[in-house]
Amino acid sequence: MFQINNCQTSNITFFGKNSRIVAPVDFRARQTNSLEKTQNMDTLTLAEVQHKKKKRIALLCTLALASITGILFAKNYKTHYVKKAQKTFQEVFLRKDISEEETVQMIERYKNIKKMKRKDSRENYTKALFEETKANFGFKDRPLKLTFEEGRGKEYGTMALDNSKLNITPNCPLNRMINTMTHEFRHAKQHELVINYSTESRLEALFLIMKQKNRNTEEFRKLLDIVGDEIIEKYPKENSDTILRKALEDTRITRYLENNFGKLSPDNIPKEYEEYTQKLIEARKKYKLPEEDFDAYWNNFTEQDARNAGQKISRLLWFIPI
Ligand SMILES: [Zn+2]
Repeated sequence: MFQINNCQTSNITFFGKNSRIVAPVDFRARQTNSLEKTQNMDTLTLAEVQHKKKKRIALLCTLALASITGILFAKNYKTHYVKKAQKTFQEVFLRKDISEEETVQMIERYKNIKKMKRKDSRENYTKALFEETKANFGFKDRPLKLTFEEGRGKEYGTMALDNSKLNITPNCPLNRMINTMTHEFRHAKQHELVINYSTESRLEALFLIMKQKNRNTEEFRKLLDIVGDEIIEKYPKENSDTILRKALEDTRITRYLENNFGKLSPDNIPKEYEEYTQKLIEARKKYKLPEEDFDAYWNNFTEQDARNAGQKISRLLWFIPI
């Protein structure tokens, strides 16, 4: 019993001893392992922290670089946009005198007008755009006025051949307003160049006005009728060509034309636009109204040129980055 007990005790002791012996070893081992692990963890964490730090620095550097590049790019883009705008304005408004400073002012005004599209009425937006385009084309002091009448067909706008009025139809969508306004004013500029070029081209312009009775030139047509009747009465045997030539010498007609087109003289046409004006004169001889011959109308140089002008401005102003 004792032995057994002893043995048992011994066994127990043995196991106990073993466990006492083993336990510290195991504990130490565990302690060492855990210390190593902790040290490893500490080492890893330190490495990770350093790595994270490096990453953060790299990210900050990238961000800083991106910001600097962004600022430089934005600055360059703004400069590029102003240069592009100046070139477009000079081409579309046929005014080589437009400076960089004036370009910036024009962009700013267009920007404010564009805001009106969202915030103000259609009429106010159209009026503001009309005044801006009118001034940009150099017509600020001309009697040319804006009307809102129904069109003959599906057109968005028309310019009277005597530059008396620009009509915007209810068909014209708001997002086509800049394009249409520029298109119609470009026609006004074309009319002005043709009228100023020579007596012959002025005569042809008068013929066209007489021919296109339904274009918005009532006042001028009435004046032409009065003057024409007086001439016919005085020279009953003369043909229509001579009557119109004589009408062109009448002070009432001259005053009316000068009022709408400036002092009639080829000196009003800068040298660089001479060739362009000659092309306009030729194109106007072949001009057809859309209801007469749509293809001829669409492909006529005067229409192609006006469409090109309208598109250039609306594309430029679609997004203003400054
Ligand atoms: Zn047109």
